Amino acid sequence: MPRPTVARIDLDAFRHNFRRARELAGDAQSMAVVKADGYGHGIEAVTSALSPDTTRFAVACIEEALAIRQAGHQQPVALLQGTHARDDLADCERLGFEPVLHNQEQLSWLGSGRSPDFWVKVNTGMNRLGFRPEELPEVMSKLQAAGRQHQVIGFVTHFARADDFDSEMTTRQTRVFEEAVAPWPGLLRSVGNSAAHFRPGQPLYEWSRPGIMLYGASPMENRTGPELGLRPAMSLEAPLITTRIVRAGESVGYGASWTAEQDTLMGMVAIGYADGYPRHAGTDTPAAVNGQRIRLIGRVSMDMLAVDLSAAPDAREGDMVELWGKTVSVDEVARHAGTIGYELLTGVTSRVPRVRE
Ligand SMILES: *Cc1c(COP(=O)(O)O)cnc(C)c1O
Repeated sequence: MPRPTVARIDLDAFRHNFRRARELAGDAQSMAVVKADGYGHGIEAVTSALSPDTTRFAVACIEEALAIRQAGHQQPVALLQGTHARDDLADCERLGFEPVLHNQEQLSWLGSGRSPDFWVKVNTGMNRLGFRPEELPEVMSKLQAAGRQHQVIGFVTHFARADDFDSEMTTRQTRVFEEAVAPWPGLLRSVGNSAAHFRPGQPLYEWSRPGIMLYGASPMENRTGPELGLRPAMSLEAPLITTRIVRAGESVGYGASWTAEQDTLMGMVAIGYADGYPRHAGTDTPAAVNGQRIRLIGRVSMDMLAVDLSAAPDAREGDMVELWGKTVSVDEVARHAGTIGYELLTGVTSRVPRVRE
């Protein structure tokens, strides 16, 4: 029998969360961002759940777009990083992939030959990728000279601080974007990661790009997904493989970093950092068993971690512990580990089977 450690994937949660994104997006349409194997949930699971409602997907790179085709879905797929080689353009054209062009080299690849329709990335202040607003007129006239202007689907930009409602930066980026693309009013505009959906008054234009919210996790560090009306799509679970009383004064695990102040019912859980559970999650990180919230104690090992079962004294060997899911949100665990839900969800390793429900 295989080890029961599992990531349960709730397809209804994807549908619920996508509906929520669309409500928040108002008149904008939403392309479902399913990069990084559907943020660790499995690209097949998320695309099959959303395919009936989604008219466009977005991924980082061409391999991920191919996986969507292999799963049998025919929607256009935006490639948020464009292509990494000129040769990929013909495949994009044939397969309905839409690269986001962000630099001069990618522009030069459009010479002659077949090319897909594409988006143009505008750098409005994130300063990762894209053309500066003042470069756009030259970019567009080059495209016109090459007979490619009709293949521009629209313009894309990305926000640096959409999760921080107190910052003016998103408002500034929005204004810069709107002005930069105003000379081409017929083209589509796409701004708006998950966080932007929750910003009061934020324009999302024709296409928003929700990612993390589809998985039920929060784009904001100070809120959890459920607090935003989202449903967790992953429940990471592992069995209790032993329980024992640790006596007052005894310690548990590597580094002996936790010592019992009184006799404490302790359980060992069959999951560790080799499964993607964060080693930085220390004592007091929440987990749950049989619907009861419990806490981690001591250091996370490669294949195991320890929990304090004082709050769930009826827990037995074989009972499943939820590391994150419906009772404990991944956002809470992320906070304890000094990271964000994105990293935890995409970091669950291949040792953990994803099981759909
Ligand atoms: C990943 C990504 C998104 C989705 O962001 P979330 O914060 O997960 O919603 C949107 N746009 C671009 C360009 C991205 O790289």
